[in-house]
Amino acid sequence: MITVSEKCIGCSICAKTCPFGAITVMDKKAIISEACVLCGACVQVCPVKAITIERKAVSADLSSFRDVWVFAECEGEKLKGVALELTTKARELADALNQKVCAVLLGTNVKSNAEMLGRYGADVVYVAEHKMLEPYTTDGYAPVIVGLISKYKPNIMLFPATKVGRDLAPRVAASLGLGLTADCTGLSIKDGLLLQTRPAFGGNVMADILCPNTRPQMATVRPNVFKKVENPRKAEVVEVAVDLKEHTIRTVIKEIVKTATPGMKKIDEADIIVSGGRGIGSKEGFKLLEELAELLGGAVGASRVAVDLGWIPKSAQVGQSGITVAPKLYIACGISGTIQHLVGMKDSKVIIAINKDPEAPIFNVADYGIVGDYQKVVPLLIEELKRAMKK
Ligand code: FAD
Ligand code: SF4
Ligand code: SF4
Repeated sequence: MITVSEKCIGCSICAKTCPFGAITVMDKKAIISEACVLCGACVQVCPVKAITIERKAVSADLSSFRDVWVFAECEGEKLKGVALELTTKARELADALNQKVCAVLLGTNVKSNAEMLGRYGADVVYVAEHKMLEPYTTDGYAPVIVGLISKYKPNIMLFPATKVGRDLAPRVAASLGLGLTADCTGLSIKDGLLLQTRPAFGGNVMADILCPNTRPQMATVRPNVFKKVENPRKAEVVEVAVDLKEHTIRTVIKEIVKTATPGMKKIDEADIIVSGGRGIGSKEGFKLLEELAELLGGAVGASRVAVDLGWIPKSAQVGQSGITVAPKLYIACGISGTIQHLVGMKDSKVIIAINKDPEAPIFNVADYGIVGDYQKVVPLLIEELKRAMKK
């Protein structure tokens, strides 16, 4: 419930901020209409703290929350692959609950992606288009998502554990007084509840988490954890009116700097990854891996140690605190194969390990193992590939 107290001085800042046009100021007092979706944007801007929203984290009637929702992230106008992976999983969960799958698209010119979401199992797609929703900002996206959740009451809400999802999901959860399970590696339905599985204690145990008292049950999942599978239907498109004001968005994006090597693919999109660890020995050593990756049309990845030593940017880190990948081919060079690295690449179709220690644990998951110094093995591979390409 939202209330405006006697402290209101009629300054109208809240009315200018409300993305849903729900506030008018009359006789120096703010009046909130039924259009309010409890997004909370006005609470933050009121200079005299006159607006309060009372949220009940524990709902008396949890059964009024229905359907499995997915935040369908776009990069510009293009849907990210992870949106389809989450929609596929949402379909499976919704079928188990006999509920619908609803996807949420935010941005500019993103509506055309609704068809694709339908192809992967979405029954309904909510589309909020506004020039201030591109590029992404927390201040722009969070009130729109909070508003939609407050209005439609989903049972489950899934976000991708991408840079955007990791920023947005906690803001939404905190605004609604809800919990959030980050980086889930498994999702299923148990006794009507969302069973959220994720690594805990440094990846040494898997924890099962349930949220029995609050709705929606919220989780984030990294790209490449779930497979995308078509399950076609014609999605109903619901257009959501938003009226964001410039002063609501406090972040100014001046420049977007791409850190990946020009021409080189990102690891979460590559079919082939050549990855290096501490055994590579130096920044220069990675040049050899780059050459191999380039010949194969792939990307260069790394263990956390190689990233921490400054040999390669963080965006290349594979593993528990990096990126999860599932390429067709993963070549691990000078990587020992600790559990924190393995959780990020074990689902690769074919794994080749190059390590000079025959006892290295990476060989336990490798399809092909080469015991030797990468400085000798990788140049031989490059030479052989070049020869084969000339034929
Ligand atoms: P090492 O374990 O030191 O292995 C180096 C290997 O290189 C050895 O097997 C050695 O035999 C081999 N080698 C040496 N020289 C050569 C050579 N010339 N040719 C061939 N082989 C050679 N790690 C990640 O990778 N990703 C993560 O996301 C991640 N997240 C973490 C999160 C937490 C909470 C914690 C606690 C740790 C995390 N780690 C992560 C770190 C992880 O525990 C290991 O420290 C790390 O993966 C080891 O990296 P490495 O295999 O490159 O190095
Ligand atoms: Fe009243 Fe606060 Fe709104 Fe100003 S911002 S009109 S003080 S409720
Ligand atoms: Fe305030 Fe949001 Fe309701 Fe508008 S929709 S009145 S900004 S809580």
